[in-house]
Order: sequence, then structure tokens, then C-alpha cells
Amino acid sequence: MNIHEFQARRIFASHGIPVPDAEVATTPDEAAAAAERFGGRVVVKAQIHAGGRGKAGGVKLAASPAEARINAEQILGMKIKDIEVRRVLVAPAEEIASEAYVGIVLDRARQADTIMVSSEGGVDIEEVAATMPEAIRKLAVDPRYGLLNHQATLLGHHLYDDPRAARQAASILGKLYEAYLASGATLAEINPLIVNPAGEVKAIDAKMNIDDNALFRLPDIAALRDLEAENPAEVRAREAELSYIQLDGNVGCCVNGAGLAMATMDLVKYYGGEPANFLDIGGSSNPDKVVTALELMTEDPGVTSILFNIFGGITRCDDVANGIVEATSRMELRVPITIRLTGTNEEEGVAILAEHGFEAMIDMDRAVETAVRRGN
Ligand code: GDP
Ligand code: MN
Repeated sequence: MNIHEFQARRIFASHGIPVPDAEVATTPDEAAAAAERFGGRVVVKAQIHAGGRGKAGGVKLAASPAEARINAEQILGMKIKDIEVRRVLVAPAEEIASEAYVGIVLDRARQADTIMVSSEGGVDIEEVAATMPEAIRKLAVDPRYGLLNHQATLLGHHLYDDPRAARQAASILGKLYEAYLASGATLAEINPLIVNPAGEVKAIDAKMNIDDNALFRLPDIAALRDLEAENPAEVRAREAELSYIQLDGNVGCCVNGAGLAMATMDLVKYYGGEPANFLDIGGSSNPDKVVTALELMTEDPGVTSILFNIFGGITRCDDVANGIVEATSRMELRVPITIRLTGTNEEEGVAILAEHGFEAMIDMDRAVETAVRRGN
């Protein structure tokens, strides 16, 4: 789950990280009023689930409430990476002497939470990572001990020559790690971490991703979900208890089981197609899930071919067949559908489909190849 900067800022601040005050505004008037309260010189920032706002014009400095109003007029309603901005954050503008990067990410390859720091922070951090990876120092945290003081101190000194700044950074890293653990995060990032002319180190941006699987035990964090900021198809899928991730390809895939779904996507690519989604209907046989799955794929304008790949175990092929028949009677199929069924109640499933004019295949390779060809 993604959360907004203003939410991540509150979490960081609650763990003692120095974060300047901020207010959220949904109209230019509110932004001007907030700027007034902050003494006029502010930064106005788009609140969306995407990075790179600075480069896209979604972060603007203002010298007065009147300018803050103009900035908010420009930023509210603009689209950044196809996402409409509905809220801005208004915060006192900081004077910046230097910008660094600090982040913690769950690194699945290392099987560890990994801290990354770089003195080359700011809006070009992706380029730094690509062109001079040696400028980013990494440390895998041993979960048995957590982040140890001497490790944090070393990282602080990697960031700053000034020992005062290094000490502040070390303390901030410890708090960031606490915030990351307490929130069930898979990412916690401050970019930029600034030093101001007075030598104070502060976080002026905040980003967190939360592990969906941690939300059941963290109701306060779960409540931060902004449904309006999420992909509507993915929200609907979650409500129907489908695992669904929209992708850019053209072959809509409806599969039972995450492993088979991954294998199906691999095979789609192997036969020259591109999967339009990852969709796991799970182990149940609920026809409503099949209906929702078909609706989601049909409504995706990129989909030119639909593939069902069902391996009946707990899921029964006849139930899925009934779901397909029911769904297609409720809606107009605008693209060809290819169905592969095998396993529990396979004969019944194939018979039900045949009765309604659908051919079902048993062989996975043949089905995937056919679905890819029909989509071209
Ligand atoms: P992002 O581009 O989405 O990561 O948004 P950021 O919040 O990181 O802002 C982008 C850039 O805007 C920062 O790297 C800073 O250079 C600049 N910026 C943001 N807030 C302030 C501020 O309070 N004062 C000044 N001088 N610059 C700021
Ligand atoms: Mn940033």
C-alpha cells in the first residue's frame, strides 16, 4: 500500500525525526491561508502516489500567501504520471545548504532490510543510482540486532564531513528504522534530507510503502489507505478478494493460484504476447469471482484476448465453467476468449462450456499460444 507524503511525514515526526510543520489544502484559498499561518514563504507540493513531482512541476516555492495561492491553482488538477492532483501540502520553505538521500527498503535478494544513504540526494537520485552506484552506501540490517549505534554513526559520517551533521543523521537513521518497523513498511525514504544554513538536519520529503500483509495487525496504518488514489480496477478486485495487478500488455489472464498465474504470464511472453494483468482468483469456486474477473479484463481497453487457465484442485472446473457462462450471459464479450481447464471435474466443466458454444482446451501450451495468436 502506498501512502501520501503528508501521512508519512506524520509517522516520521511521531518517531522524533525533525520534519517541518505542514498543512494539507484542497483549494487555493486553503493553501493561501496555510501560507499566511506559516509566515508567507512556503513550498506547495502535490500529494499523489508518485515520485518525481519536483521535475513534473508539482513542487513550487512561494514568497507570499498570494504566490502560494497561484502555485496551488497550478498544481491542483494537474496530472503527474496520469494521476490527478487533488491535494497539496503547504510547508514553510526551508533554506537548503545540501541535499542527501536516506532510505530503508526490504531487499528481497539480500533477505534483509537495507539502509541506503547518499550525499548526492535530491531529484536526480535515480540517475545517481544508474550512473554512479558507488555514491550510494548500503547496509543490510541484521534483524536480530536492529540498526546498531556504530553502524548508524558510520553511515552518518559517510553522508557528512561535519561531525555535528553526521550525529544528527545517525540519530535520524535510527528513528527512520523504528518508524519503518513499527509501520510494517517495505520502504521508508527521505529525499532530500537537508542541512540548512544553521547546520540543522531535517527531512523535507517523506515516502513510505506499506506491506499489505502487515495491515491486519496495524489498523491505524491501514486507515491511511486512500482508495481514490488507487487504480479503481485494483480496488474492485481487492473487494472481490481477487489478487489483481494491472499491466501494460494485451492478453488478459485469469488463473487460479499465484504460481500458475506467474507461469502463465511467462508462457504468454514465451509465445510472443504481453500479459495485460496478473489475476489470481484463488482457490475458491465462487462464480461471482469469475464474473468480476471477466468484467475487469473486459473493461481494460488494452485487452485484445482473454485467457482462462484453471488447474482444478480445490477449485472445481465445473464451477469456473458456470462462472464463465454466467458472466458472458451478463455482458458482451468484445474480445476472443480462450479457455484451458484441467483437474477436478474437468469433464463436467468442458461439457458445460461446450453446451454454451465455448471450446475448452486441456493443454496449457496450446491454450496460451492460441490466446496470444487471437490477440494479435
Ligand atoms: P519529489 O520531486 O517528488 O521527490 O519532491 P521533493 O519534496 O523531494 O521536492 C523536490 C525538490 O524541491 C527538492 O529536492 C528540493 O530541491 C526542492 N524543495 C522542496 N522543498 C523545498 C523547500 O522547502 N525549500 C527549498 N529551497 N527547496 C525545496
Ligand atoms: Mn523527494
